[in-house]
Amino acid sequence: MCSPLDKNLPDAPISNSLGGGPWRPFWETLSPHAAYHVMDSSPLNTSSVVQPPIHYTTPPPSLLTAEAAGGSPTSSPLLTISRSYPPRDTETYLLCPMYSRLSRFYTPKGLDWSPSQLIGTAVHRGIVAYYTKSSTPLPAAREALEAGFVPQEKHTLEGIWKSIERGVKLGIDVDLTGGGQRTLVCAEEPVYSRRADLVWRTEGRLIVQDLKVRLSLDADKLPYALQEAEHSWQLHDYAYHYGLHFGEPVEWAEMVLIILGPRARVVTHPVHMTPERLAQWWKIAPVIWARKAEDDAQETPPQNWAICDSRLFYGQPCPYRPFCHTHRADWRMTDTLFDKKGGE
Ligand code: SF4
Repeated sequence: MCSPLDKNLPDAPISNSLGGGPWRPFWETLSPHAAYHVMDSSPLNTSSVVQPPIHYTTPPPSLLTAEAAGGSPTSSPLLTISRSYPPRDTETYLLCPMYSRLSRFYTPKGLDWSPSQLIGTAVHRGIVAYYTKSSTPLPAAREALEAGFVPQEKHTLEGIWKSIERGVKLGIDVDLTGGGQRTLVCAEEPVYSRRADLVWRTEGRLIVQDLKVRLSLDADKLPYALQEAEHSWQLHDYAYHYGLHFGEPVEWAEMVLIILGPRARVVTHPVHMTPERLAQWWKIAPVIWARKAEDDAQETPPQNWAICDSRLFYGQPCPYRPFCHTHRADWRMTDTLFDKKGGE
């Protein structure tokens, strides 16, 4: 059966004015009868409200942060979805809706502290400081480390610092400016609740970069890591939303892989964000966001048992298995099994 979306989204290839004249987003070529508003948490200039298919409405209030709440409930004869969700939320939802819920609010008690996230944050901080010239790279990275370090027995602050220092130097040495051909547009600027690492402009086109820090990646695994960029939700989401925000096409979205071992190096993988590619993504995204909104409104969201024992969770099985399987998703066990995030 044809969904409401099918009636209003064009089939690829999408005609677009990329070849000449002022750029227009592909959705401006859609049916003038379709209604579209973005009622997201981010400031949208209402003059840029365009004509296509989806009506964003307010998310279920029980699961909203104050920052995310925006807009008023509305309905659409086409399709009603709560809102768009940032890439990280969507990716964890696609992995497992229950994991998405639990990891947002709870940390399993007794889980070993891992420095990987902190190393990534600090390396980002240093590299962004370098390219924006906002502060000195290594002190900026060190400050992030000291702010996030959790004293424990396994990892020392100085040991972690060596990895961070290596990552920052790699990100600087590789020269993300394309030999000075690119002009920095913004860095970590919030756009529609997204925060791309670096956005550049060259020859009238935008390039979005996402920095990824890997503590270790063997050479034989590199092709698989790069292949992921081709269908990375995050890169497509950034290309779409930063293009919308700046009113010009994001032509390339690049994954910048900063590999700290066993052989330290940086590998960049650019993905050409053609209108056809983004149109395909746009066919999928609102459907997934709508499903996520529905699942978020349920007390117990769906569980993806197919991945519980996989190593998709930072190289480990899912840390919420005792809750889901030993305690059969009994919400009365949360105080026993979990610490609330943010110390609430
Ligand atoms: S244990 Fe399985 S079902 Fe439960 S949150 Fe983890 S992946 Fe999802």
